[in-house]
Amino acid sequence: MDLRFYARQKENRILSSTINSIRGMHDILPSDLPDWQRLEKTVKDVFASYGFDEIRVPIVEKTELFARAIGGATDVVEKEMYTFEDRGGDLLSLRPEGTAGVVRAVLQNGLLYGAPVRLWYQGPMFRRERPQKGRTRQFHQFGAEVFGASGPDIDAELMAMCQRIWQTLGLTGLRLEVNSLGTSLERAEFRSELHAYLAARKQLLDEDSLRRLDRNPLRIMDSKNPAVQELLQEAPALSDYLGDDSRRHFDEFRGLLEVLDVPYIVNPRLVRGLDYYSHAVHEWITDELGAQGTVCAGGRYDGLVEIQGGKPWPGAGFAMGQERLIELMRIKSESARSAPHVYLVMAGQGAMNSGMKLAEKLRTDVAGLRVQLNLGGGSFKSQFKRADRSGAALAIVLGENEIQRGEVSIKHLRDESGQQQVSLHDIEDWLRSWMKA
Ligand code: ATP
Ligand code: MG
Repeated sequence: MDLRFYARQKENRILSSTINSIRGMHDILPSDLPDWQRLEKTVKDVFASYGFDEIRVPIVEKTELFARAIGGATDVVEKEMYTFEDRGGDLLSLRPEGTAGVVRAVLQNGLLYGAPVRLWYQGPMFRRERPQKGRTRQFHQFGAEVFGASGPDIDAELMAMCQRIWQTLGLTGLRLEVNSLGTSLERAEFRSELHAYLAARKQLLDEDSLRRLDRNPLRIMDSKNPAVQELLQEAPALSDYLGDDSRRHFDEFRGLLEVLDVPYIVNPRLVRGLDYYSHAVHEWITDELGAQGTVCAGGRYDGLVEIQGGKPWPGAGFAMGQERLIELMRIKSESARSAPHVYLVMAGQGAMNSGMKLAEKLRTDVAGLRVQLNLGGGSFKSQFKRADRSGAALAIVLGENEIQRGEVSIKHLRDESGQQQVSLHDIEDWLRSWMKA
């Protein structure tokens, strides 16, 4: 669109209405951020404690990267990507997930060699899905990827790491479902049997499943349609097609989950519809978020590095959805308090100078104390009104009289403890013991 068109419209004051954000893409407001920050700090600390290093990759990549990595016959690539031609004619996409970019980056930068590489990433992802509760068009993921470890030990350790995150955040009631997808050869055999079974019952399939039937019948196992799920009850089972090695891999994975005290259930219909997955796949699911109950999903993707042009190289990982986790944190009312502890009320220019100094000193000396300074003066009455609105528990009042006496008044804003005088010498000790109480 010609930008001059907008300029002219603006001149003519035709464009007077405000512009809203894109449907399914949301602001994260100051009142939301304490929960986000708490989640992010917890996840980063836990990742670090398992020896994972952060990697940051671009948000935009060549469309071909995702088409290759995620596969053409998936909803993500077929229908959900934000794809555009840039001014040079290159076909680019906003990343719908993180793994493809991370694999590209480790290949491009020669990070694969040496001991197994443990990486994590975080950031916004974009999928043009139908927005609904727990499903947005810009959403945020934390992900972990491990390259160079082929055994089930790392699959199990990844699950212990997730469990530690849930425990730290106080998120109870998350259920781990696991399955084995075997090798691509084993899956190919299963796939043709499944195809034959479903093709003979075509009339019972819905539109989505019909579309998937020839291109990627495994995806049908993922269907949320109860009628399709019923049809699958009698369908061939993937587990019957696993060879000895695959069975051993899965049994060892399960054994290690038991050693690590990570409870799980086997869901034989759990699939990831992407060809490069093999062996262990997993999802953490809650019943407390309605239909969008999966908060974390992943698996082993031994075929992916090769698809991206590298040597065959084992990989395993998961991605967790931050929005869904935060919703769950709220339900569990574990949300962090964002309100300041202290609101500083000051009357007079002298008080203002001392007040600003005092605020700095308190922030330095009293660990964790959140201090909010009254800005722009105002009467005591209006300052107390603002103090109240800030949600602070205490108002510290600094007036000319207080300064002369070398003390402050402390007013409790949220209970009936009233007001008291505390000497400026003792204020830090007083606040420290108040924080502990
Ligand atoms: P779903 O079946 O819910 O569409 P998915 O298989 O497409 O999930 P993955 O690609 O495995 O999801 O992404 C991992 C996690 O990222 C999901 O379990 C979920 O928590 C989160 N997630 C995925 N898509 C969205 C979205 N559109 N909005 C919010 N969170 C999402
Ligand atoms: Mg999806």
